[in-house]
Amino acid sequence: MTGRFDVAVIGGGIHGAGVAQAAAAAGHSICVLEQFDGLARGTSGRSSKLIHGGLRYLETFQLALVRVCLYERALLLKNASQLVRLVPVCLPVYRHSRRSAWRVRSGLLLYGLLGGLTPECRFETVPKREWRNLDGLETHGLRAVFRYFDAQTDDVALTQAVMRSAQALGAHLITGARVTHVDLSGHGAEVVYQSAHAEEIIRARVVVNAAGPWVNLVLQSATPNPRMLPVSLVQGAHIIVPGTLTHGIYYAEAPRDGRPVFFMPWRGNTLVGTTETAYSGDPAEVAPLPTEIDYLLAAHAATFPTRVVSRDEVIDAFAGLRVLPTKDPSLSVRPRETRLLTDRMQTPRLTSIN
Ligand SMILES: Cc1cc2nc3c(=O)[nH]c(=O)nc-3n(C[C@H](O)[C@H](O)[C@H](O)COP(=O)(O)OP(=O)(O)OC[C@H]3O[C@@H](n4cnc5c(N)ncnc54)[C@H](O)[C@@H]3O)c2cc1C
Repeated sequence: MTGRFDVAVIGGGIHGAGVAQAAAAAGHSICVLEQFDGLARGTSGRSSKLIHGGLRYLETFQLALVRVCLYERALLLKNASQLVRLVPVCLPVYRHSRRSAWRVRSGLLLYGLLGGLTPECRFETVPKREWRNLDGLETHGLRAVFRYFDAQTDDVALTQAVMRSAQALGAHLITGARVTHVDLSGHGAEVVYQSAHAEEIIRARVVVNAAGPWVNLVLQSATPNPRMLPVSLVQGAHIIVPGTLTHGIYYAEAPRDGRPVFFMPWRGNTLVGTTETAYSGDPAEVAPLPTEIDYLLAAHAATFPTRVVSRDEVIDAFAGLRVLPTKDPSLSVRPRETRLLTDRMQTPRLTSIN
């Protein structure tokens, strides 16, 4: 295909779909190029399936980010109610937990305030007499259990739905189209891509690089060469194990290092995640490491001791890549906001999302 558009978007993940929807709704002509044959084959289909209100960001005092998360969660609950639903979340606090009951309660109170004290932001303390009904949750050393609400989605279906909405507004989508070169040296941009049959070109006034973990590879393919983003890739693995949870999602601390790990009902089984492992290979090759699977199984066994699962019983495992700023040394406290980055001197027509 050759064509002229206002906006060319590289990447058919949730960011690419969202940009396409917003740009098409604003009346711009837009073309999305996705290298794989379907949408959400990158990080957007390997997430933890949460539309979370950002409770964990309170620990690093990212209050503005929590407010944005809560606002966007409320919007999605309203506008995409078939795909995004509120789910109860249990937060057990043990004698050895890193976060005390007092700290968790204070965090949940602040969370409720930041969410405008709406019903979706409320929390409660689960009475002790109900603990034994909580899906076999470990009760030894248990001090308190809090219950609040978060939202769950099907990340692939959500990405597809947003793209369908963009297409209904006039956006073009080309899958199986790997962008190999972005030429920004003229007045507009020429985006060269490889399809199954040939090398093809589209022209656009501006280009949005929504390539997720491939973001710097796309920048490398651009002329004149924009500055690379100072980001690194951090792998997060999930496993799916047999057995379902009837009381919603559970957040607990991994026994090895105290990191938060969640257990979530997922299509009749339980989704367990995640890990944080630095990654430097080809983004298309990311896969859970045996050590990550063992780490998640150990967390599952510690939280639900009557449901111990062996490695052979793991139904599925998958990993995705976070694109995080390199500057902060600790992985878990690195900022998670979505950023729009433009090299205004070299390539003002190209914006990268990360
Ligand atoms: C383990 C993990 C768990 C997460 N859990 C959650 C969660 O529960 N809730 C939440 O809100 N967020 C979560 N996130 C974050 C969220 O998943 C990401 O922010 C989001 O998916 C990023 O979307 P994206 O569109 O930028 O990237 P991607 O989904 O990776 O999309 C990039 C797309 O660009 C395409 N592409 C790349 N290069 C080219 C090229 N040259 N030509 C054409 N196409 C190209 C790729 O094929 C890919 O489809 C999680 C992230 C990880 C890693």
